[in-house]
Amino acid sequence: MATCIVTGGAGFLGSHMCDHLLSAGQRVICFDNLDTGSLQNIEHIRSADFRFIQHDLTEPLFIDEPVDFVYHLASPASPIDYLRLPLHTLKVGSYGTHHMLGLAKQKRARFVLASTSEVYGDPQVHPQPESYWGHVNPIGPRGVYDEAKRYAEALTMAYHRQQGVDTAIVRTFNTYGARMRPHDGRAIPTFLRQALQEKPLTVFGDGTQTRSFCYVDDQIRGYVAMAESDVHEPINIGNPIEFTLLELAETVIEVTESRSEIVFEALPTDDPQVRQPDITRAKQLLGWEPEVELRAGLQTTIEQAGVERLVGMGD
Ligand code: NAD
Repeated sequence: MATCIVTGGAGFLGSHMCDHLLSAGQRVICFDNLDTGSLQNIEHIRSADFRFIQHDLTEPLFIDEPVDFVYHLASPASPIDYLRLPLHTLKVGSYGTHHMLGLAKQKRARFVLASTSEVYGDPQVHPQPESYWGHVNPIGPRGVYDEAKRYAEALTMAYHRQQGVDTAIVRTFNTYGARMRPHDGRAIPTFLRQALQEKPLTVFGDGTQTRSFCYVDDQIRGYVAMAESDVHEPINIGNPIEFTLLELAETVIEVTESRSEIVFEALPTDDPQVRQPDITRAKQLLGWEPEVELRAGLQTTIEQAGVERLVGMGD
């Protein structure tokens, strides 16, 4: 039985990662400081193979047992969170990643970094292959997140090349599913909350900017395939089917059978115009590709989360 550390394990993706690893018969040690995550996301876990440790990863940590895998997911991830926590976001990307890479080195564990499509910034290449270096504004408000992740990637490769740590980098593209927070500002939970409350759906700009949405189960499968491979270079994990924000809003209205209308609001600073993963490497090197299409994923999200949680009642 492998022992896995999941940082950010009380968050959206991290809690799904804990569920998946436990159901695959692995031990899980979950680290989280509950900044943007919640105990509600892990309260259903009853397994004796699960251990939760409340800890801020910007501080050093010690574990007195063997570890096989480190899934490093801890970081504020939605624009609302990292704009509220700019210094913390930079610190968790730097100090936090240092601490986890140091631990992986000490334990001879395979380290998997949760990076992001945001390392490509507002891309000038479309779709984005891993070989694209990106177009990021380092001093804009989003720079705290984008550059923290770019630094974390550089650090990961340095630990690999110079310190011999067994590392992997997953560039996660927009992912959705149950346990996203209704007010975290990301498009899918916002539209679901608004549609389920029959309120207007707020689309930024003219809604022609595109995104690709990956269902959470597909994303977690990608992380595990990466962990089980011997790949060290970054790999995009995301759904290449591209939607405009307007199409997404219309799909959410259709799936929820809502009578909401669509309204338009100002575009946030440095909001990328396009976002679509080139997943050729994931297919070739991991045999991975997404399976869940948007409508089905939205239906499952609604069933699993329940309307109360999606509209934020009881938070
Ligand atoms: P989330 O906010 O739900 O989860 C992040 C978790 O990290 C939270 O539980 C939070 O409390 C924890 N955390 C933050 N700072 C910490 C610290 N200093 N010490 C310990 N724990 C800390 O976000 P998410 O959407 O689940 O994202 C998880 C990871 O995936 C992040 O690294 C994010 O950058 C990456 N990612 C997510 C998406 C997506 O679409 N969800 C896209 C790209 C990348």
